[in-house]
Amino acid sequence: MAKKTMKFKTELAQLLHLITHSLYSHREVFLRELISNACDAIDKIRFEGLTDTALLDGDSDWKITIRADKDAQTLTISDNGIGMSQESIVQNLGTIAHSGTKAFLERAQELDIKENPELIGQFGVGFYASFMVANEVTVVSKAHGEEAVQWKSDGTGSFTVSEADKETRGTDVILHLKDEAKEYLDNWTIRSTVKKFSDFVEHPILLLETEKDEEKGTEEEKEEQINTQKAIWLRPKSEITDEEYGEFYKHISHDTNSPAETIHYNAEGAIEFKALLFIPEHKPFDMLMNNDPKAHLNLYVQRVFISNEFDNLLPGYLRFVKGVVDSSDLPLNVSREILQDNPLLDKIRSNLVTRILKTLAQMKEKDYAEFRIFHDNFSTILKEGLQTDWGNREKIADLLLFETTAKDAGEKTCFSDYVENMADGQEEILYLAGENRASIQNSPYLESFKADGKEVLLMIEPIDEFVIPQLTEYKGKKLRAVNKGDLEEDKEKLKEEEKQFEGFLGFAKDLLDGVKEVKLTTRLKDSAACLVGDEYSMSPHIEEMMRRMGQDVPKHESVLELNPEHPIVKKVQAMYAADKEDPKIGTFTKLLHDQAVIASGAKLDDPAGFAARINELLAD
Ligand code: ADP
Repeated sequence: MAKKTMKFKTELAQLLHLITHSLYSHREVFLRELISNACDAIDKIRFEGLTDTALLDGDSDWKITIRADKDAQTLTISDNGIGMSQESIVQNLGTIAHSGTKAFLERAQELDIKENPELIGQFGVGFYASFMVANEVTVVSKAHGEEAVQWKSDGTGSFTVSEADKETRGTDVILHLKDEAKEYLDNWTIRSTVKKFSDFVEHPILLLETEKDEEKGTEEEKEEQINTQKAIWLRPKSEITDEEYGEFYKHISHDTNSPAETIHYNAEGAIEFKALLFIPEHKPFDMLMNNDPKAHLNLYVQRVFISNEFDNLLPGYLRFVKGVVDSSDLPLNVSREILQDNPLLDKIRSNLVTRILKTLAQMKEKDYAEFRIFHDNFSTILKEGLQTDWGNREKIADLLLFETTAKDAGEKTCFSDYVENMADGQEEILYLAGENRASIQNSPYLESFKADGKEVLLMIEPIDEFVIPQLTEYKGKKLRAVNKGDLEEDKEKLKEEEKQFEGFLGFAKDLLDGVKEVKLTTRLKDSAACLVGDEYSMSPHIEEMMRRMGQDVPKHESVLELNPEHPIVKKVQAMYAADKEDPKIGTFTKLLHDQAVIASGAKLDDPAGFAARINELLAD
């Protein structure tokens, strides 16, 4: 194979530039990233070897080795993992950048990565972190049945690929360290960095050292294991410190903050497994960047890592949970596909879900301030469960917090407090969904409830409109959107007025597009008019949002409700009674409709017409 020079993909080149030039303070993470990769590579071949031992080439004495060479100023991290062919080395380390790279770069610019170096760790640049400490990186690798290959780069835009001499399967990553990173040639620094970040890595990490005896003129290879290698989830809870949990969480999540909550337990009984789960406080970076709807727990069977891709191990609405599940009841020598269908996974899932929801409920109870932070970060995801996990709907509902007319902006309440504070005789949980608090807190729909002293929940996350109706009721109380459906009390009170207004209401209905009925209401106190949808229709602001996203949403017809106590409504009715032909009646009626559209959160179909109507009035 001739030596080939290839260019990095543009985004990757930019990323490398960023890494080499601006990220100093957290550079020690390079070692964690390289050990992580080595560990993944071993897990991969070990797993494949379970069903086809020939792939192992007789080499299954799993280990990661580190060697510092002070004379050459190199640090070498080696593994006997799966290795890479020429093709895959080009793919993995050069041409295909992480799917979120572009988004990352934009974000990095926005936030000024120098001020926020932890971004890089959250993004998980992995291998490329090497360039924080090295001015040249050489990777020599060999996969089963493939020729060995060498990849080399100084991280400035291109890399070379050529033949290499390597007999055994696996990968050596050789870092030629920058002068300012020479401390990583020091065994003490290596030891303490490994201890800090990678102590629990389940394969031995060996520090190799050549001891020279000047007098005798001999050299002796020394090998020292520097990690305790004890899978943290198998250790008794009482022996694990918060720091250890924290480091492990960071290792699996790419988060740089500590978790909000740690759940560590042994399930016993119908199915036995060990779980170590973490609830983050903030959204880790990859979650901000990727809209992956699946949960990714690491599944181990008898301590062998199997996959983090099984989407039936944890439902998507709990995808913010990171962690490990290790089961001895699952079979080991089967393919991933067969394992994925194993019914025991469903049992594990329901056990995990119960445990996680219980922990969140306790968090809400015990440490509301921390729960609020968690909630503000993850409630959108959690709410998906109202739609997808019917069995746990009420438990999920218990965890949700909402703005409310009873509290100032920014303060929140929950369903159970709402129900407790319900007015005497109030049967329903009332809510109004909208774009933000400011746009709905003075909404006409709230007027009558405010007058009656009834609390209304203000739902201002876009997802609310879709998922809250799925709940239908909470603790036997029906949920009702106050901008939808009829009000019970309307009919009696309005009988007299309806007779009076009859002719005008018919006229208005014929005049207005998109209105299927015009009627009177007691719902309003200060406003003149509002639009009301069917109980099951989408709210206008959601229709609007979906249209903006390019969806073809048919306009549904709504009901225009008028407040017969309002002076303008009275005035138009009087004008109609006096002279049906007066052209101003049409202008007034359309303006009543315009203001109802605006107050509903929708956009006017004909803003120019609206302006013309206003001008007509002003000129009068
Ligand atoms: P990530 O590990 O997050 O996928 P990296 O940039 O660290 O991203 O690595 C890119 C890819 O290169 C890995 O997904 C893996 O396929 C390959 N790779 C990296 N290091 C090794 C290694 N030591 N052995 C085998 N493959 C490796």
